[in-house]
Amino acid sequence: MTSTPAGLSEELFARARRVIPSGVNSPVRAFGSVGGTPPFLTSASGALLTDADGREYVDLVGSWGPMILGHANPAVVEAVREAAGRGLSFGAPQPGEVSLAEEIARRVGPIERLRLVNSGTEATMSALRVARAATGRDVVVKFAGCYHGHVDALLAEAGSGVATFALPGSAGVTASTAKDTVVLPYGDLDAVRELFAARGDEIAAVITEAAPCNMGVVTPPEGFHRELAGIVHGGGALVISDEVLTGFRASAAGYYGIDGEGWTPDLMTFGKVIGGGLPVGAFGGRADLMDLLSPAGPVYQAGTLSGNPLATAAGLATFAGLDDAAYAHLDRASAALQQLVAEALTTAGVPHVIQTAGTLFSVFFRSEPVRTYEDSKAQDTAAFTRFFHSLLDSGIYLPPSAFEAWFVSTAHTPEVIDRIAEALPAAARAAASD
Ligand code: PMP
Repeated sequence: MTSTPAGLSEELFARARRVIPSGVNSPVRAFGSVGGTPPFLTSASGALLTDADGREYVDLVGSWGPMILGHANPAVVEAVREAAGRGLSFGAPQPGEVSLAEEIARRVGPIERLRLVNSGTEATMSALRVARAATGRDVVVKFAGCYHGHVDALLAEAGSGVATFALPGSAGVTASTAKDTVVLPYGDLDAVRELFAARGDEIAAVITEAAPCNMGVVTPPEGFHRELAGIVHGGGALVISDEVLTGFRASAAGYYGIDGEGWTPDLMTFGKVIGGGLPVGAFGGRADLMDLLSPAGPVYQAGTLSGNPLATAAGLATFAGLDDAAYAHLDRASAALQQLVAEALTTAGVPHVIQTAGTLFSVFFRSEPVRTYEDSKAQDTAAFTRFFHSLLDSGIYLPPSAFEAWFVSTAHTPEVIDRIAEALPAAARAAASD
């Protein structure tokens, strides 16, 4: 049942497995849960990918978020080319860092100060360090199914690849680190209240995805963040809102732009879109907290390549393309695709639920809404696997896991959506066939 593109991708995968663990540099890429050989990609343009064997795919992964303007967007490529001509890295301040930080702060109210790093993982790791330093407390609270990168303290019951491979967390995380992490069911404010009543004086921060997207997309319950912030602040702890995935994708101001009424996160994390496809992350928030960072303050945090001029050029060019028309396009493309998927699965009699967070959405292969990690794990992942491989055979590249969001870009034109529409009925029938 697994579609294995014969040829160069297979050769490359065999070579890769000899020298790179599982042949990949990030686990979900290995197609471990869906099986088969991952296509090795050699180029991409707009909404299309090309693999080593010359096969073309419509992309619904978008490098897991950054490619919001489509691949090899001419303005972004030109900005990077121009920056490259002026030097690849200085290890010293450069103007692009200032402009990128200003752009993020302009869009997201709670950002008073911001530092650039090289990945989302670095961003959440650093935000945690600031929170612990500011509060003088050790414990961090996260929600099951939320993924915040591969930070030791945040891997327990994480989504994304940890969910794809059904892992409880990760080997190699020390018991003393794990003991400082408390995991609660997503959305369970009573559990938060009880924890604060019992151990409030130990808790530095509660971190949450602005809208969970790594157990599939779970729309935060109405008023959830407002109430959560009330409890957390009442207990003298901090709220960290992780917008690495949702930032500048769910809306022009991230998911905060959708539900930022009545609450303010103390710290926020970003990544993906802000680097336009180059390695970037950022964390920021209250000035008094961010000013704890070295050299002014006692919290050490640094990076040889942080604020890299190519990365900031790509990020700024991406932001320049993210105007109201771009978000309207993303909304239309996302809605059109959701409708087509729903029609195809309904016609084939496949139980499914589609959930959204702004322009983000995912498809769960079960009939009831997904509110928690437990709900998400109760999907028919075998049906997803059949659906995935049928689409891949038809040249449609979905995230190779039932626990991931689908990503559209401004390059997903009606013609591109039509190509997906043509492939969906057969994929839905494959999902239905046990
Ligand atoms: N936080 C969230 C919400 C994410 O989705 C991710 C990556 N998918 C990360 C953090 C980690 O980012 P990175 O992979 O750049 O380290």
